[in-house]
Amino acid sequence: MNNSFRLTYIRGIPVEIHVSWLLIFFLLSLSLAQSYFPLMVEGLSSQVYWAAGIITTLLIFASVLTHELGHSFVAINEGIPIKKITLFIFGGVAQMEAEPETPRSELKVTGAGPMTSFALAAITGGLYYLFLTPGQIIGEAIFFVARINLIMAVFNLVPAFPLDGGRLFRSILWYFGKNILKATRIAVLFGSLLSFFAIGFGFVVIFFQGDLWGIWLIFLGWMIYQAGQSSYSQLVFKETFSGIRVSKIMSTDLRTISPDATLEQLADYFLNYKYGAFPVVYGSTTHGIVTLQDLKEVPREKWPHTTVAHILTPLKETLVIKPESDAAEVMMKMATQNTGRALVMEDDGELVGLLSRTDMMRFIQMHMVLGEE
Ligand SMILES: [Zn+2]
Repeated sequence: MNNSFRLTYIRGIPVEIHVSWLLIFFLLSLSLAQSYFPLMVEGLSSQVYWAAGIITTLLIFASVLTHELGHSFVAINEGIPIKKITLFIFGGVAQMEAEPETPRSELKVTGAGPMTSFALAAITGGLYYLFLTPGQIIGEAIFFVARINLIMAVFNLVPAFPLDGGRLFRSILWYFGKNILKATRIAVLFGSLLSFFAIGFGFVVIFFQGDLWGIWLIFLGWMIYQAGQSSYSQLVFKETFSGIRVSKIMSTDLRTISPDATLEQLADYFLNYKYGAFPVVYGSTTHGIVTLQDLKEVPREKWPHTTVAHILTPLKETLVIKPESDAAEVMMKMATQNTGRALVMEDDGELVGLLSRTDMMRFIQMHMVLGEE
């Protein structure tokens, strides 16, 4: 995640804060200092209210961090390194270097977060009931922190993947069905239904009750829906392409075009062969790649006098991969370089194939139709 800055390291794990968190920090301190505490405890100076607001917000920040550390320490115990912890607008994320390999391991890693929040709620709640007085500022602050931890634990247990509850749900499905893809698909579907329900309920709240609080529900529902969809497709890609070589997916019936060809000839190529792109080759030298998009950008009246050499994407700006490259890695490269195609070349520069996003999608479809085993 970008727009984050590093705060500290805890047991070697980098802890980062996303800029959106600063806004929440300010808004929460403000509303605690200006409205919540003056309402709960009367007659204190504004400095005291502000101090209480800021300290309470810091304690909540520490609670979110502890929840993520709960996940992280158990993950490390399970042999999964943690890349970093990022705290952002809705809480935090502990980024794991890999996904848990067994349902049991996922259950432990995921369960650790809500358990930590429940424990914090019990500790702060106990502190409040045993030692502190209602109506006094310290008591009210601790009671507030206790409730937030309880809400955090319960909210995270909502079974909407990728929330903790959705992951726990998946680990149970995974355990009984022995199939992570199927388990994820059901968990994501169930999470999507819940998100749509939250979005619908948000609209009802806005239109029938006139309460803008519904916007948060819509926003939250949408975020969870998106996150569920993208984690599912990532998993599908990873599972489908893991251990698959590029040579197995690439197109090998290559149609190449010469750099000297005119754009009119190129247009004929597109019409005849119906590919989205052609490698540009002269003799045994590959010059680059030319796409339908490149052609469309040139006005039609210039086509007869312009050559392919003028509009091609040169080899050094093209994604070039090897036939033995791992398909999952190439997929990632295509995504980060925002390109839909790669030329497949041997070490000696011989062009052996073309790999497009379409080839990859076709492979996934085939995989799904013919079974996941
Ligand atoms: Zn969590």
